[in-house]
Amino acid sequence: MYLSEYFTLEELTFSQLAIRKRLDNTPSDAAFEALRALCLNVLDPLRAHLGRPLQVTSGYRSGPVNAALGAALGSAHARGQAADLVCPGIDAHELFHEVLRAGVPFDRLILEGGWVHVSFDAARTRQRGQILVAEFAADGTRYVELDRSAALAA
Ligand SMILES: [Zn+2]
Repeated sequence: MYLSEYFTLEELTFSQLAIRKRLDNTPSDAAFEALRALCLNVLDPLRAHLGRPLQVTSGYRSGPVNAALGAALGSAHARGQAADLVCPGIDAHELFHEVLRAGVPFDRLILEGGWVHVSFDAARTRQRGQILVAEFAADGTRYVELDRSAALAA
């Protein structure tokens, strides 16, 4: 079932972990609407800007799936507001820059190790546009906030 021009409910709710652990990953009505808003406002325009397939590696994660993953910044996924993205042919760093160049609205954009996390919160009249970059150290991962121009130069 298509949520928008380019994205289906199946790809936005697919979870290897849910299958393996037999966890229900069916979104609530609110999460379904949030996924649709994410697709229409962020993912479709970004896909059109890129002109090539954009792969969602993780979209909606139900409470049990999110807990099984032990995700730190996972609450937006549990609300259906976030997607982790890769774009075959360009690396995560380049995709991160393309999200900024595309000018799509986002509540939060995170450059993770091998993917880009982007969220959209339809309840906000104005998206925060927060930009974070993960830094990996021996004692764990920390997130550094950048402004738009610093992020484009990073
Ligand atoms: Zn994420």
